[in-house]
Amino acid sequence: MWSGMRGIATVPTYVVMQPTTLCNLDCSYCYLPLRRVDQKMPVAVAEAVAASVDSWSRTARFSVVWHGGEPLAAGRDHFAALLEPFAAGVEHHVQTNATLIDDAWCEFFTERQIRVSVSIDGPEPRNADRVTRGDKPAYGRIMRGIEALRRHNIPFSALCVVGQPAPGLATDLYEFFLSLGCDVLGINVEELEGVNTRTNSHPAGQVRAFWAELLTAWRRNPSIHLREVEWFLRYAAAVLDGTADEVLPRRLDPIPTIAHDGSVVLLSPELAGFSDPRYGDFSSGNVLTTPLATILAEATATPWIQEFLTGVEACRTQCPYFGFCGGAHAANRYFEHGRFDVTTTDHCRNSKIRLLEGVLDHARDHQPTAV
Ligand code: SF4
Repeated sequence: MWSGMRGIATVPTYVVMQPTTLCNLDCSYCYLPLRRVDQKMPVAVAEAVAASVDSWSRTARFSVVWHGGEPLAAGRDHFAALLEPFAAGVEHHVQTNATLIDDAWCEFFTERQIRVSVSIDGPEPRNADRVTRGDKPAYGRIMRGIEALRRHNIPFSALCVVGQPAPGLATDLYEFFLSLGCDVLGINVEELEGVNTRTNSHPAGQVRAFWAELLTAWRRNPSIHLREVEWFLRYAAAVLDGTADEVLPRRLDPIPTIAHDGSVVLLSPELAGFSDPRYGDFSSGNVLTTPLATILAEATATPWIQEFLTGVEACRTQCPYFGFCGGAHAANRYFEHGRFDVTTTDHCRNSKIRLLEGVLDHARDHQPTAV
């Protein structure tokens, strides 16, 4: 078991940038408070971030993840202007609802080598939460965008939200994503966070069975990189090698999220745009007045971050799943418990504990028979 209190790294491996707060959809589980408002990121914010990122990208692979709102709702010309300040070696990713993707966007992605991840929750009936502002299903528009990516031979990842993880669902989901042609798939069990207050408490046995079934489906045709399985395999390999201590980085990746106005929220993008009488607006500074590198160097001066590190330390000393999980996300603690120095959340039960248990259930059910 890994030992020693974790701090926060001063150099991240990626930053999340919010080119606009606006989203053209209105999904029922969305956590974003400002998705109806079009507040675009000024180019000066991108220039300020690029000044720190460019030095980091000279020594290691570095990514900028453009996440909104709906990042494509910023418009191509504005998006191009925001990309301009970054050095050629920086990798750009976009997390999109796919509804605005057309041939022109595909050419834009290809020319700039932007990696694309689309949000889609499986076959049509499973996308009932993904709707337009007029409460119409978005599925047809999502699929048109994905068809454009395929026409242009652009590889893509998929992110799928599961509201009710239960047996009988995972096989259909996995078959759908195989037919969709994505390279990478991440499954997010719906989270209670931000403006989404729907419960995420589910019976343990159902969630375990969901993950076990997903693993069975993946093993039949493992041609998609399934994010959750890869987490598990990395952890299991390290345990077997006796290097489990090295799976978790000694310092937490700060994951700076740069909001449209340049304010920086660390560790959990979902906290951006919220405030609390105890914690203020959760931000650790603004890149328009302070270099991002300086904000990161002083991260622990942000009061809620100290409280979160106390919670992570409590996880390390109390939770048998810590070596796999690492303490999960700050936003889930805050939105479920109203504070950061707590440990278990329904999010970590669904997405860490039951995942690990479900994979082990699968392994027990598929042990070779003794001869
Ligand atoms: S599974 Fe939950 S309680 Fe355990 S380390 Fe992760 S966040 Fe903490």
